[in-house]
Amino acid sequence: MGMSPRYQKVAIIGLGLIGGSLGFAAKRGDLAGHVVGYASSEATRARGLERGFIDEAAVSVTEAVKDADLIILCTPVGALEALAIEMKPVLKAGATVTDVGSVKAAVVRDVGPHIPAGVHFIPGHPVAGTEESGPDAGFAELFEGRWTILTPVEGSDENAVRKLELFWEACGAKVAVMEVGQHDLTLAITSHVPHLIAYTMVGVAADLEKVTQADVTKFAAGGFRDLTRIAASDPTMWRDIFLNNKDATIEMLGRFIEELMALQRAIRWDDGQTLFERFTRTRAIRRQIIAAGQDSPAPNFGRNPQHLTPAAKDEK
Ligand code: NAP
Repeated sequence: MGMSPRYQKVAIIGLGLIGGSLGFAAKRGDLAGHVVGYASSEATRARGLERGFIDEAAVSVTEAVKDADLIILCTPVGALEALAIEMKPVLKAGATVTDVGSVKAAVVRDVGPHIPAGVHFIPGHPVAGTEESGPDAGFAELFEGRWTILTPVEGSDENAVRKLELFWEACGAKVAVMEVGQHDLTLAITSHVPHLIAYTMVGVAADLEKVTQADVTKFAAGGFRDLTRIAASDPTMWRDIFLNNKDATIEMLGRFIEELMALQRAIRWDDGQTLFERFTRTRAIRRQIIAAGQDSPAPNFGRNPQHLTPAAKDEK
């Protein structure tokens, strides 16, 4: 008989977009005997129970983690070290601790030293999300067809890694195993720097004195509107991502600035050929992403409406 993706007791720490979606996906696939959840506030824990993506709300992280076979840390990355220290004394031998943080080297640095021998530590990152956050944002289909990257640490138990892969696959994800540094560099270019650019562009537009706020809102065309969606992402989460993926972000930002200067130069000197060549190359990349099934060519921000949360749908 093959290995089962099911864990008896699953503890989800952090009950926002990702924690909630994982709870729903685990329930949909019968991947957990019992799901216990913990978040900082009583209101979030109560909402998790009400929406039904957890079976039980714990009043402390230690209560949630006690006897758990799989512990999934779904808080902003900056909270992980303190949580790991608190959990350490109650972790069950043979349990697996994983996380969903958008950066990985910092998680290995902050959490790794607090994982006792006999407990498996397998960092992870589902490359899936929306700009919504909180306990009302999660939905079971979030991971459908999206990649989850696992970055096992040296000496990780193969069976524990395989079981976690099966769990994610049963949640609808495609799983890739990657080295920590490669993860952080790849995500810096595909996710972190684009967010920084969106935050900057929207901030600059808001600062312009000659263009009033009303004009910016009224004439927001495709490109700017898409950037405002990205720039609406959760400030705590993104602060923690940049502070914890410093080297890769700065490296990629340096390359981006060089590239931007080259385009500025081409515009200044009427070098249409350079502009045309650059834009042709990037258009091909967009087509490759669609061909790889990572986005849709639909004009609605490239998003499938059934993948949107109720709140996001209301905005449409
Ligand atoms: P979120 O919706 O803001 O939810 C965060 C949750 O963590 C909330 O339930 C919050 O509780 C809880 N929390 C915060 N600090 C805590 C602490 N010290 N102890 C216990 N609970 C705590 O965030 P999210 O979007 O799900 O993101 C969570 C993680 O997933 C982040 O590490 C992020 O990097 C990663 N991630 C996010 C995305 C995305 O697109 N959003 C994609 C991939 C990975 P309260 O509600 O009580 O404050």
